[in-house]
Amino acid sequence: MKCPFCHHEDTQVIDTRVSEEGDTIRRRRRCAHCDKRFTTYERIELSMPVIVKKNGSRADFDPSKLRASLMLALRKRPVSAEAVDNAIHRIEEKLLSTGAREVISGHIGELVMRELKRLDKIAYIRFASVYKSFEDVAEFQDAIAEVGRERKAPAK
Ligand SMILES: [Zn+2]
Repeated sequence: MKCPFCHHEDTQVIDTRVSEEGDTIRRRRRCAHCDKRFTTYERIELSMPVIVKKNGSRADFDPSKLRASLMLALRKRPVSAEAVDNAIHRIEEKLLSTGAREVISGHIGELVMRELKRLDKIAYIRFASVYKSFEDVAEFQDAIAEVGRERKAPAK
């Protein structure tokens, strides 16, 4: 692996870790020339299922669209970029792990909602109110009640 800083050909692996799920290998490398360090990831490449929209049309899975919808819901919310990356990663993993060639768009919406619910209740309500059009009233009441409880909780 070439050094991304000085493009020297020889970099050493100084640490190797397998992810908890065992599907990713993270390697810490050091350039023998400039001594800078960087990380590489090795993962299994599987193809994402094709998205089937409500009207029956097909579209390729687009991670940038997934990110955009998460970011829109999370606008101005105190959620780190890393947490968003992890959420996107989990959604992609779930889609891959089904092994299906096609997935309905509604399923992705559900996965996004599940992640947002974990990340930030306000973002969850924002996304769900657009996505579900308040179909599931009970779920909303729960979510809103939960937000209320968190607000009332004393500051740590
Ligand atoms: Zn270098």
